[in-house]
Amino acid sequence: ALTPPEKIWFNGQIRPWFEATTHVLTHALHYGSSVFEGIRAYDTPAGTAVFRLTEHIDRLFDSARIYRMEIPYSKEDIINACKEIVRTNNLKQAYLRPVAYFGYGGIGIVPGPETPVDVAIAAFEWGAYLGEGTQERGVDVGVSSWHRLAPNTMPTGAKAGGNYLSSALIAREARRHGYAEGIALDAQNMVSEGAGQNIFLVKKKKLYTPPLTASILPGLTRDAVIVLAKQLGYEVIEQSIAREALYVADEIFLCGTASEIVPVRSVDSMKVGSGARGPVTHAIQKKFFGLFTGETADTHGWLEPVENP
Ligand code: PMP
Repeated sequence: ALTPPEKIWFNGQIRPWFEATTHVLTHALHYGSSVFEGIRAYDTPAGTAVFRLTEHIDRLFDSARIYRMEIPYSKEDIINACKEIVRTNNLKQAYLRPVAYFGYGGIGIVPGPETPVDVAIAAFEWGAYLGEGTQERGVDVGVSSWHRLAPNTMPTGAKAGGNYLSSALIAREARRHGYAEGIALDAQNMVSEGAGQNIFLVKKKKLYTPPLTASILPGLTRDAVIVLAKQLGYEVIEQSIAREALYVADEIFLCGTASEIVPVRSVDSMKVGSGARGPVTHAIQKKFFGLFTGETADTHGWLEPVENP
């Protein structure tokens, strides 16, 4: 459950958490017309830093552009606001949730000039998304009977509120079957992603992940894993992955901002490898979490301090 912090950034102002409210005829509530980001700030030896903040905000603006939504702030405004709300709430580590949405105005599907674009940024403490201990122990997943959105239906490259109805069907079905998460196939029946994570398979020490054309969100954690895995000397191959590859992989892991990096210990009740976290997954986890302890050098400028230097 969410422990509410004191403040939230809402349309350019720092407001008390419970005062960031909207009308029930808000466009986004009816039509899913919001775009958002999930971002993590970590407590590093050099102070609290937001992981790939600028790139997350770039993606937010890309998502908005796809839906012809004009965010009434500059990227710089939003980046500064993200840092400010972490500082204001005195958070050492945080999950940040910027959201831009068509607000209260018209009720037609096409938002007209009477429909504002509202923007909020929440920052709060949030533990491991798939549960405490799962990053060591691993999780059980199942292939979903729900597929991800087909190309040219709704763009999965945009992180839009409406897309998460697909994610909710996948995740709920998975939980109902006793799995921590569901793995969706794309419209071509190839492996796509989890409800809120990208997926990697390891086979003979090589990493495989579905390409951007597999109806995935281009995850920033996915991208970080590719970079770090290559630094560790692993080959990373982005290619279409058939369902059966999940059943014969040596290792599988999920990755995303909220989940971070989580080993998969079984798929459809079949053990992955030995059924425990594998060595490649572990090495990549160490490299990734090392960014936040200082053990891994931040050679790409991924850590953006919340205190202005
Ligand atoms: N796919 C989906 C559907 C997601 O919701 C997320 C989480 N934002 C991801 C992948 C992973 O993306 P990122 O690493 O940028 O958080």
